[in-house]
Amino acid sequence: MNTVFDKDVKYLPGVGEKRALLLKTELNIKTVGDLLNYYPYRYLDKSQIYRIRDIDPNTSTHIQIRARVESIQALGERNKKRLRVIVSDGSGRAELVWFKGINWIQKQLEAGREYMIFGKPSFFSGSLNLVHPEIESTLGAKEKFFPGVIGIYSITEKLTANHITSKTIFNTICTAWQAVGDEIPETLPRYVIEQYGMMSLTEALFNIHFPSNNANLNSARFRLKFEELLGIQLNILSTKKKNEITYKGFIFKTVGDLFNRFYEKNLPFPLTGAQKRVLKEIRHDFLSGKQMNRLLQGDVGSGKTLVALMSMLIAVENGYQACLMAPTEILANQHLEYFTNLLSGLGVDVELLTGSTTKAERNRILNLLREGEIKILIGTHALIEDRVVFSNLGYVIIDEQHRFGVEQRARLWMKNTEVPHILVMTATPIPRTLAMTLYGDLDVSVIDELPPGRKPVRTLHFYDSHRLRMLGFIENEIKKGRQVYIVYPLIKGSEKMDYLNLEEGYEGITRVFPPPEYTTLVVHGKMKQAEKDYGMKMFKEGKANILLATSVIEVGVNVPNATVMVIESAERFGLSQLHQLRGRVGRGADQSYCILMTSVKLSKESRKRMEAMVETTDGFELAELDMQLRGAGDLHGTQQSGMAFELKIANLGKDGQILALARETAILILDKDPLLTNEDNRKLRILAGKFTTDKLYDFSMIS
Ligand code: ADP
Ligand code: MG
Repeated sequence: MNTVFDKDVKYLPGVGEKRALLLKTELNIKTVGDLLNYYPYRYLDKSQIYRIRDIDPNTSTHIQIRARVESIQALGERNKKRLRVIVSDGSGRAELVWFKGINWIQKQLEAGREYMIFGKPSFFSGSLNLVHPEIESTLGAKEKFFPGVIGIYSITEKLTANHITSKTIFNTICTAWQAVGDEIPETLPRYVIEQYGMMSLTEALFNIHFPSNNANLNSARFRLKFEELLGIQLNILSTKKKNEITYKGFIFKTVGDLFNRFYEKNLPFPLTGAQKRVLKEIRHDFLSGKQMNRLLQGDVGSGKTLVALMSMLIAVENGYQACLMAPTEILANQHLEYFTNLLSGLGVDVELLTGSTTKAERNRILNLLREGEIKILIGTHALIEDRVVFSNLGYVIIDEQHRFGVEQRARLWMKNTEVPHILVMTATPIPRTLAMTLYGDLDVSVIDELPPGRKPVRTLHFYDSHRLRMLGFIENEIKKGRQVYIVYPLIKGSEKMDYLNLEEGYEGITRVFPPPEYTTLVVHGKMKQAEKDYGMKMFKEGKANILLATSVIEVGVNVPNATVMVIESAERFGLSQLHQLRGRVGRGADQSYCILMTSVKLSKESRKRMEAMVETTDGFELAELDMQLRGAGDLHGTQQSGMAFELKIANLGKDGQILALARETAILILDKDPLLTNEDNRKLRILAGKFTTDKLYDFSMIS
């Protein structure tokens, strides 16, 4: 271990206790190594030095001059103060102006001295003006590191308030670099570096902070991104290998009488091609002798539940029990109803266990379960409690998987001495690259086809100024006997305002659709789960025309009679969330509509999102676009990050190719050395260890 690299930043010249504390609390920078691993988020090209006379008055980019201070003048009174500095470089004069931080700037400046000056030029009656330029003395030790391209480091408000700027960070990194020398410990084995002709870590870190040209910067970025993504892939895939070595899977050999009777007598419609393919993939796993760990992705309404049911029949037929865990009571109830209907006459005992199951009922179920009488158990979190003991659990399905943590999944594993097969289902479309990172240890099946006869939801975009048209539209649908959702955003940090909006919305709606003629229900996140479930149940049973809700509307709830989804302030939602919400309608035979309400003023990006929603109903296409627009690291805006580790430099939206390369590399390495125990791979073991986390799957998209 390199001692300087691990040293507290406070020992660096110019840092000290106070700044070190700020760096730690604001940027999580504790050691010199952390500091060197804090990368610029963009760069400014300062390679060219302009002569004042040569500057084009029409230029709109920042420019840099090297000029001597002729005079410094503080002008004006009190809050109208400004600092005026005249500089000259022999070819001409320029005026520098500051309105803020005047005292501080004044201390930095000395008449007669020469400075590098960087800023955006403007011209007043032919003379060059720079407002709030960056200045740097051309003297001093930092000259050595004064590069052509300057990194800009992101900082926080609190840091700015304490005079820690991007430039401070840059200067501190210069100091750190001198302290570390060439002793940065390499984190990748030589053979990996050579395989791709990559930069060493030392070179990469040098070039990420002090790039001398674009080619070097790109090589540095490649090396650092690759390393990050390789670490994640090694972690995920070696865990998977370890599990494969540790656990054998049950073999479900028979597909016999029960399955066939269901297929011939009970199945109400032909399976889609995609459903058939996924069943085949599951069946293949059932026969492999390895434990299945499979993710089933499929858009809302694509028929995942049926696949779940049919694959459970195979488990049952082979003498095992199966269970299905749903995130809410209402979903669990919905599944029970669905299973009971479809399985009627087949003699398979299906039961429901949730938090509100009565004690007597629970005892009855637990007894039957232990005796193996219950073949299929459906439930909520209640399933993972210790008192729930199966006689021979062989197959576990988790619905809407993003709602559960990996820990909950693991607890279901432990319900048998041998691990059961696992299928996790999600309607949240996850872009390929993200799936590879978040769910890299799962095999992935996709239902990419909707059952025939579905009418795609039509999406309309209205500005708030056209609210009356929207109201007229829903009135029409209600007259036809249909039901309507109206959803309000709920964004962390502005919940209070959001609830106010919801309240106002309720008043507005009940004015237009007054009781008792119309019934409007409200469901939001501050209500207790039981209250929410009750509201949803009423709506599902057709006892209300309109459901007003925050974005907590339960995923997967099926109300075929609801044909309109109005999304208020739609610009505040991410694409994936908009798509999820739209999926609440279009579940019946009638034409359904999604209405996006936004203000007229929209950012370019929001406009793109609205256009995409209007144009396509393909969830995966939208998810890819969403990630490109926002970058995967940046999905927290609307509570959908959930990534347990932070990517410092790789961007899953943009670095798909590097990710694929990293994954391929990881697979090759692990084929030869599954647990990274070879001495050659010692560094890789450490790298993979950095990404260990049990929150890896907590991809909560919906609040
Ligand atoms: P999700 O994938 O969102 O969980 P569901 O399993 O709830 O979707 O299915 C939505 C609806 O589509 C259900 O009413 C289901 O019975 C129906 N369905 C499923 N598969 C088919 C099929 N192959 N043909 C016609 N309808 C189907
Ligand atoms: Mg479902």
